[in-house]
This record gives sequence, C-alpha cells and structure tokens, in this order.
Amino acid sequence: MIIDCHGHYTTAPKALGDYRQRQTARLGEPGAPALRLDFRIGDDEIRDSLEPHQLATQRQRGVDMTVFSPTAGAMAHHVGNAETSAHWAQACNDLVHRVTQLYPLEYAGVCQLPQSPRASLANCVAELERCVTGLGFVGCNINPDPSDGYWTDPPMTDRHWYPLYEKMVELDVPGMVHVSCSCNPNFHHTGAHYLNGDTAVFMQLVLSDLFKDFPTLRLVIPHGGGAVPYHWGRYRGLAQQLGRPPMPELLRNVFFDTCVYHQSGINLLLDVIPVENVLFASEIHGAVKGVDPQTGFHFDDTRRYVDAVHGLAAPDLHKVFELNARRVYPRLDALLAAQGR
Ligand SMILES: [Zn+2]
Repeated sequence: MIIDCHGHYTTAPKALGDYRQRQTARLGEPGAPALRLDFRIGDDEIRDSLEPHQLATQRQRGVDMTVFSPTAGAMAHHVGNAETSAHWAQACNDLVHRVTQLYPLEYAGVCQLPQSPRASLANCVAELERCVTGLGFVGCNINPDPSDGYWTDPPMTDRHWYPLYEKMVELDVPGMVHVSCSCNPNFHHTGAHYLNGDTAVFMQLVLSDLFKDFPTLRLVIPHGGGAVPYHWGRYRGLAQQLGRPPMPELLRNVFFDTCVYHQSGINLLLDVIPVENVLFASEIHGAVKGVDPQTGFHFDDTRRYVDAVHGLAAPDLHKVFELNARRVYPRLDALLAAQGR
C-alpha cells in the first residue's frame, strides 16, 4: 500500500476559517472573553470539501492512506496568546478527527499543537494526549518557531521542549517539524520559511544530545529535509569538525519526507539519505498546486518521481511507500492492522 505521511486539510469548510476570523477580531476588543468554538459543520460539508478535491487526487494517484493534519500555514501560533492557540488547535483537530471518522480507510489524524511564543508547552502536552488517546491520532506537528518568522523561542533541542517530548515518547508518536506562516517579510512562507525551518532544525539536532535524553523520540523533517540532503557533505563535515557523532547516529531518530517537487531532487534525496529514513509524502493540496510544463504533470505528484528513481529496487520502494511510515508511526501501523491492512 502507499501511505502519504504529509497531508493537510487545506480545503476545510469555510466555517472553520470564519471562526478564526471572529476569534482574531475578538482579540481586538478590550476586556472581551476569548471566543470559544461557536460553529457547526455538517458531515456533507466535510465530504464535499474532500471528495472532489484532495480525496479525488489521492485516489487518482493511487495513494491509499494520508496522514492528515490541519493546515500548517493557518496554525499561526503568533496570534493572540496560549488560550487563543488552545481554542484554535481544538477546532482544527476536532475537524480532522471528523474526517478520520468519515474516511477511516483514507485518513489518519495528526494534530496541531496549541503553541504560543515563549509559552510553556503544558497546553501542547494536554492537547497531544487528548488527540492521541481520545481521538486516535497518530502523531503531531511541531512548530519550531511559534513567533512565525522571528525565531524568538529556544531551539527545539532546549529543555523548554522536553515536556512535549516526554509525552511523545510515552504515547509513542512521532512529530513532524513543521513551521507555520511567516510574519517576516524577508521570508516567503512556503518558499523560504518552510525550507529554512527544516534546515535550521536539522542543524540544531546535529549540535545537541537530544536523542541521548530521548532515544526513542522520532522527528520527521518535511519538504525533503530542506537544504539538508543537498548539503549532506557540509553537515557530515561540520559534525566531524565540531566533535559531534556521525550522521548514522542521528538517523536513528530523524526522518525525511519526499515533498520535493522535481525528479532530480528526489533522485538526490534517495541517493544521499538511507532508504530507511525516507517516507513517502506529497503534501496535497499544499504549497505548489500547478502543472509542471516540462513534464505535463502536477509538481506535487511525487509518486511519479519516487517510482522513477533509478536503482531503487522493489523492496526499497516498499519501505519508502509503506514500511517506513508504519515503523515511524506505530499507532498508524496498529490502526491499519486493525483494518486488516
Ligand atoms: Zn506541510
């Protein structure tokens, strides 16, 4: 089977975004209480938002299961405060849960965390627990920069983050390192901020002993690892120069997805990174939606690139498409097994 480990509910019904607008507007009213969830969305609205869009594309491309989370760009953790983020994360996660109930064979949930700049991660721990144990989610997205473009929080390897990692280890769920929007005009969100985030966090991991403290913690770096695979020699060289462990040690805990939108990029990713560390993903309908005039196919139709990588034997393809995801997301594996898959 083919598992896409990186999908967002980018076509969610309008009522969700309308709530966010009201919630944000309320922040401008002095003394007004925070706006809790005040909307309802019907099952048919959810079906209509998926069937002709992401689900159609997913089926057309032969992808069986998508690991599905709220829209990353809309997490916008810089907005308001921890309470704002708590309500917003709950709204988004509950809606993803509805999707997984309506389409249990096609979608498994990954949660947005109610992060807020410089705030404690206590809310995030609680929401992760609610989503995993209560809603059956299989992982979480972690925003390494809740300020959305200004990097005011400690590195992801700082003890500030440890309560979240303790809970992830306890629940045996991985996290995808995924920034949100960018408020910094220097960084276009999907063109710069995303790839910066992926690359920056990898270097934080090179420099730290995080995985000595959490030997079973697993982090997925999306978008093919940002600039990392292309500059693999730089990271190997820096690790050597700085007295850090060689890359294979880091790769016990760090994984990359295949959200790279051209053949040469996927070739390089799978040439450089061990096949056990690469998880299939396409992020539909996400950052890049158009058709590549050079190929006639959508840029984000990453299955074509993975299928076409030279020298990748069938057992390796099986790892990239299915087995690695089942290993990194054990709760997804259990969910699929319970479905007889
Ligand atoms: Zn994404």
